[in-house]
Amino acid sequence: MVPQNIAIVGAGLAGMACAKTLEAHGARVRLFEKSRRPGGRMATRRVEVDGVTHAFDHGAQYLTARGAHFAAVLEVTKSMNWPDEKRWVGQPNMAIICRGLADGLDITVNRHVVEITGSPGAWMLRHHDSALVTPGAPSPDAATAEDGPFDAVALAIPSPQAIPLLAGPAPHLAHVLEGVVMAPCWTLMVAFPTRLPLQDTLRLTGGPIGWAARDSSKPGRNAQQENWVVQASPAWTREHLERRPAEVALLLRDALEKLVGQPLPPTLVCLAHRWRYALVEKPLGAPCLWDPALGLGAGGDWAIDARAEAAVDSGAAMAAAIRRE
Ligand SMILES: Cc1cc2nc3c(=O)[nH]c(=O)nc-3n(C[C@H](O)[C@H](O)[C@H](O)COP(=O)(O)OP(=O)(O)OC[C@H]3O[C@@H](n4cnc5c(N)ncnc54)[C@H](O)[C@@H]3O)c2cc1C
Repeated sequence: MVPQNIAIVGAGLAGMACAKTLEAHGARVRLFEKSRRPGGRMATRRVEVDGVTHAFDHGAQYLTARGAHFAAVLEVTKSMNWPDEKRWVGQPNMAIICRGLADGLDITVNRHVVEITGSPGAWMLRHHDSALVTPGAPSPDAATAEDGPFDAVALAIPSPQAIPLLAGPAPHLAHVLEGVVMAPCWTLMVAFPTRLPLQDTLRLTGGPIGWAARDSSKPGRNAQQENWVVQASPAWTREHLERRPAEVALLLRDALEKLVGQPLPPTLVCLAHRWRYALVEKPLGAPCLWDPALGLGAGGDWAIDARAEAAVDSGAAMAAAIRRE
């Protein structure tokens, strides 16, 4: 029987694309998301300084559409070209693209799924209220709850995070996911009172910085501000992965100063964000992973390619696999 009552873990692009397709075919879908908002790595951070808000797209920088499906998503969300006609950004920020996709979906936020229990046709999800749990600390029992039963459970989360969830009920799937490699990325969000003598985007190799962009030059942003997003290279990030964000922010600020070749103006904002699982380096090589007998599986950008479009395509492929198309 085709599953009708489905849980999706993760409300990023892949999870939402999967949910939209399943709902269009009449299935009941619930999404569980550990963050405060849906969107995942399509993220925007707002920082207030002296009553002024500075916004940074600290996850995906721009989008490219190779297929008609994703091109339609960009059109519906009124994305705009930046920095050239082949690349697209949401306006006034990247997160808005996912807000639009989330409309009408049944998403429970602040729910960190920690275990899949039960049996085929009657899966249960154990989850914590992430608003009540300190990251890294043991979770108090009071914060644990259970939802279900579900005919099927689709994991739309980075592959390293899917492995422990599948290890109990589907060890063969967890084993396959161990072959996927995702790179981390330390990302600096930095704002200045005056303009830096740099072009709007820089892609670099061989040093600490892999990509730097004047975020405030994107369409729909506050062009009076000088907000930068600076991504460390995978090699540099791996080397500094466990350092404190404040230390990393200063190191990346110094690397930016070297790039500019003169002392930087004082910073208004200088924050680092660690993406443990940013971009896939070795993908699954199939659009998703699904066991129809169990009604369990996983998908995400990591299945196909290090691009947002791959997440949408993988989510749609997972929906097709669930529907046994
Ligand atoms: C720094 C950076 C730069 C990037 N630049 C670009 C770019 O320029 N262009 C481009 O196309 N792509 C870029 N990407 C990649 C793009 O952001 C991703 O391909 C896409 O957003 C992945 O979507 P997803 O749904 O597969 O995963 P995610 O966006 O990671 O969504 C997974 C969701 O699952 C949630 N979750 C995880 N575990 C659990 C759990 N146990 N319980 C509940 N919820 C859980 C997470 O909170 C998250 O919301 C970039 C990514 C990063 C990090």
